[in-house]
Amino acid sequence: QGFSALSLRSELLQVLIDLGYSQPTPIQIQAIPAILAGEDIMAGAQTGSGKTAAFALPILHKLILHKLCLQEQSDQKLETQSSADKSAIRALVLTPTRELALQVHGSFVKYAKQTQLKSALVYGGVSIDAQAQILASGVDILVATPGRLLDHLRRGSMSLSLLEFLVFDEADRMLDMGFKDEIDAIVKQLPKTRQTLLFSATFDESLYGLSQSLLRDPKLIEV
Ligand code: AMP
Repeated sequence: QGFSALSLRSELLQVLIDLGYSQPTPIQIQAIPAILAGEDIMAGAQTGSGKTAAFALPILHKLILHKLCLQEQSDQKLETQSSADKSAIRALVLTPTRELALQVHGSFVKYAKQTQLKSALVYGGVSIDAQAQILASGVDILVATPGRLLDHLRRGSMSLSLLEFLVFDEADRMLDMGFKDEIDAIVKQLPKTRQTLLFSATFDESLYGLSQSLLRDPKLIEV
């Protein structure tokens, strides 16, 4: 039982064993299968619940499969995608603060240790050029605070046109901090066909409004 019942890739299960995670937490038990099945989710989750792994693990699982598939196509010379497409950002995690962005990025790096997947981090208050250089080198997962992400989009540091996963972490704090306009401006640049995952400690009218406009028939998860 444990994590192996969630049918995650062995590259991920091995890391979880090394980290000493023996059992998935309640939010992981509910969110991981739903995300693997392609559903949007709206989850009530506190810090410490294991919410980061609840979205990071299934996203990594799906991105590993995706990379393998691209690899196979290029081995068989069936590729229709350019090399720019291959290095496009597939998953975007929006967080309200630099501290949370750092933590989430750290978790992706930790869980992706045995994969080829790359995670990058952008937040405000530091030089934008160094971040743009990392983005130009090709990353699969981007963890970002909304304002700095918009700066990068305006500069054309990267394209989000092939994005597959959009995650809101601590969505309530993002709204409390006044990021609604930034969120709207970012979402306008994303593909409509994508999987959207929203995590929040609290839910009020404005959050339901946001989720109604962004999520497609979400599975509600409360733990
Ligand atoms: P989070 O709620 O995502 O901030 O995670 C809280 C802490 O729990 C982090 O330090 C994780 O590394 C750890 N953690 C997450 N999932 C598990 C698990 N299934 N078993 C043990 N520790 C976990």
